[in-house]
Amino acid sequence: MRRFKAWFQKITLGHPGHSAKLCLWMFLDNYVSAIPYAIMVIAVFLLFRPIIIPGAPIPTTGLLILCGALAVQAVIYYFVARKSYMISCAGFAEVVRKARMAMGEQLRRLPMGFYNRRDAGDLTTVLLRDYETVESNNDTLMPKVAVIAARMSMALIVLTVFDWRMTLATLVVIPLSIPFAVVAYRRLNRKNTDLLNAQQDNTARILEYVGGIQTLKAFNQTDEMYRSLRASCDALRQRSIAMEKASAPVGMLARAVLNAGTAVVMGFGVWLMLNGSLAPLTLVVFLLLALNLYNPIMSFMMMLVNITRLNHCTDRINEVMSETPLPYAEGAGKPSGAAICFKNVSFGYGNKEVLHNISLDIPQHSLTALVGPSGSGKSTITRLIARFWDAGSGSITIGGVPVTCLSPDDVLSDVSMVFQDVYLFHDTIEANIRMGREGATREEVIQAAKLAACHDFINALPNGYDTMVGEGGSTLSGGEKQRISIARALLKNAPIVLLDEATASLDPENEVLIQQAIDALVQNKTVIVIAHRLRSVQNADQIIVLNEGHVQQAGTHSELLAADGLYKKLWDEQQKAGSWRLRQTVANI
Ligand code: ADP
Repeated sequence: MRRFKAWFQKITLGHPGHSAKLCLWMFLDNYVSAIPYAIMVIAVFLLFRPIIIPGAPIPTTGLLILCGALAVQAVIYYFVARKSYMISCAGFAEVVRKARMAMGEQLRRLPMGFYNRRDAGDLTTVLLRDYETVESNNDTLMPKVAVIAARMSMALIVLTVFDWRMTLATLVVIPLSIPFAVVAYRRLNRKNTDLLNAQQDNTARILEYVGGIQTLKAFNQTDEMYRSLRASCDALRQRSIAMEKASAPVGMLARAVLNAGTAVVMGFGVWLMLNGSLAPLTLVVFLLLALNLYNPIMSFMMMLVNITRLNHCTDRINEVMSETPLPYAEGAGKPSGAAICFKNVSFGYGNKEVLHNISLDIPQHSLTALVGPSGSGKSTITRLIARFWDAGSGSITIGGVPVTCLSPDDVLSDVSMVFQDVYLFHDTIEANIRMGREGATREEVIQAAKLAACHDFINALPNGYDTMVGEGGSTLSGGEKQRISIARALLKNAPIVLLDEATASLDPENEVLIQQAIDALVQNKTVIVIAHRLRSVQNADQIIVLNEGHVQQAGTHSELLAADGLYKKLWDEQQKAGSWRLRQTVANI
């Protein structure tokens, strides 16, 4: 019983009350609505008696009682049906809505390490298909189970009233069908898991295909050539067929066993009748009602596939919900200022360490540049500051407080980030900027947009600040998206700014505008900039040179040039590349 309770709790997403109430009312509804049939059977029995037993009186009193019972049933049915209709209309949608919101919040709180393990298709499937399955099954499957229970119990009561021995004979084949149901459940469970995994993979492949459509077009890849999507569609087809095949034979065997029950009823009934202990009319009633008892059992077996699906989907939802967000030890107080300090920090995304024993001092209101070859660990350092991940060893402090003593939300409220890849949501421009600070007024949004040099282009859009942005910001140019993301950061006005050098791949006009926006953003802030072009950070207070996860050098531009190390090498290479580009341009002219 305890196990059933836990299971019920699980499949109702922790809200068993709603489904239990729905089941109860559907049970009552069906029970009450089945009463006229039972009354009819009894009435037919009473009416046939004088025909079969000559001389027996017509049971007028009994028939009148049945009429009264029908009238009472009609009144009760009205109230019960009304209530069960109201409850079924309310549906499980509200529970699922709340559960989806809770999942959204959980996903926001989870560390980025979680996203390294799960891909977008996987999570999309949880949020769309799994919740959908839970909702539809709680709305339809549960009431169906209640209906089956009502019909069976009603049939049992009526049959027992007629003859308990025959009722037992009717029931005798039911245990025989249980092993088939168990085998069916196991097989279906296995095949269903395969099918659901194939569906999930297919979603991932479709997302990948749509997301990468530009690249596919650019390289003239037709869908014929997009093998992984094709393979995934083929796998999905095969698994669907396997699922169908798995359910059919077991279901047929179970039906055969149950049908054999009718033979048992008939054989046993005839034997009792020949012995003179069963009236022929009673036998007729049993023969007519036995199938009524078996049909709900068959329907239940048909539902096994939905039950396994419901089980699987709730398991997947619970798996995500039981992931633990980054822990933090409260009580260390608030950061005093925005100085950042790394002490002997090592970190790896998985088993492979990518930062080795890093120590850094980033004073408040200073500009620090992180430079170094690609893959040297620059972005990883900024992710650790924002607490997207926690360091494997060593400590990171903000304003003297270890980040592990601050909630991820608190850390992020102190940090503004501007990435090269800007993501804009499918919403108005105003809402996209307001993401920087919820509750900011329209004037504040416009002020931030002006400082970020985007006010003019926004005003030139058809609906100004109310213009909808395509998903991922697809209707705006790279430079425009970048400036909107800077406006967001300006609105947030956090004391620490992490900047993945945003101007690296932009045209000169955009570069000037974005540089203006960045200048506005970084005033009186602790700024850490990932610099791809060393020329842009010559004036930084300190430049940290990273190589293969180690701090190789640190100092000002002139100190590092004088030191003749990696920085000087990178600088010389960039100077050479710059003059080569210049020569090419001149030659082209
Ligand atoms: P940089 O910013 O200097 O180019 P990164 O900090 O992005 O370097 O990467 C440092 C190392 O960590 C690289 O070897 C990279 O492949 C690895 N890395 C970066 N992000 C991830 C991730 N999400 N999962 C696993 N490895 C990663």
